[in-house]
Amino acid sequence: LRARQAAVPTGPGRTSDGHAVPLLANVGSAADARLAVELGAEGVGLFRTEFLFLDRKSAPTVAEQSERYAEIFRIMGDRPVIVRTLDAGSDKPLPYLALPDEENPALGVRGLRLSSVDEGTLLDQLTAVEAAVKETGTPVKVMAPMVATVEEAAYFAARARTAGLETPGIMIEIPAAALRSEYLGAEVEFFSIGTNDLSQYLFGADRMSSAVAALHDPWQPALAVTIATVVTGAAKQGVKVGVCGESASNPEFACVLVGLGVETLSMAPRSIAGVRAKLAEVTRAQCEAAAAAVVSARTAEDALRAARAALGVDT
Ligand code: PEP
Ligand code: MG
Repeated sequence: LRARQAAVPTGPGRTSDGHAVPLLANVGSAADARLAVELGAEGVGLFRTEFLFLDRKSAPTVAEQSERYAEIFRIMGDRPVIVRTLDAGSDKPLPYLALPDEENPALGVRGLRLSSVDEGTLLDQLTAVEAAVKETGTPVKVMAPMVATVEEAAYFAARARTAGLETPGIMIEIPAAALRSEYLGAEVEFFSIGTNDLSQYLFGADRMSSAVAALHDPWQPALAVTIATVVTGAAKQGVKVGVCGESASNPEFACVLVGLGVETLSMAPRSIAGVRAKLAEVTRAQCEAAAAAVVSARTAEDALRAARAALGVDT
């Protein structure tokens, strides 16, 4: 007898009761974008632009940047793309920019903070993105990494709008930004939660250190509590929230994110199928029950067990 196999879902992400959860890809190159399309990504939720800037002796020109962005936009066609402005500094130094010597570069001049040392890099990048949008017609938004305060969010939004990019967003990856999401949300159109760095700063645990990897477990309840805080603040401003950190690629945790009110999930292209399949097995109400269970769990272990029970996973 042939075992009866459930059909593997394809197409857009949705729960079994039809709640749509766009499944987006994290990409860092044209090859990644091709793979994303091939694997059914509904768009790009995080385009990491670092590849254009690292390992070179001088900054890429606006023309060179816009050509490379346009290449990726063309691959995505009509699918939406979120471009993250340069997230250099810290573990990704720029050889041609004199950054301060820092003892703790992860806590130093990185991400949007680079603009305080060299604003031209950001302005050139925004100009290049806008030119590539004009050329391709792809629906593109830009977002800034490592935003901590309202002033930084407002600064970025103003620069983006001046460049003609009307719907700027920010990453939420610093606890201060999460706590003040209602205020930051008044400045921008959307949030994308970067759970890799958010966990790093929330738990005070270096994301590069395997010795503290347990603190980067997405089931640590404080992470879900922080995400719930972001969603609540965002809702007051009508701001949409996505997640683009590694945690979104864990199929069961992805259900928890949906239950917390996260609207889109962005992940490595190869993770999309697993998340799509899991979402198709559960209802939105189950996701909400799992989220509530995680938020009130005492430990990561309890959170995982309670979420699985709510999602009807056999353990
Ligand atoms: C994150 O911090 O979660 C994130 C998506 O950005 P990166 O991993 O590039 O820092
Ligand atoms: Mg990050």
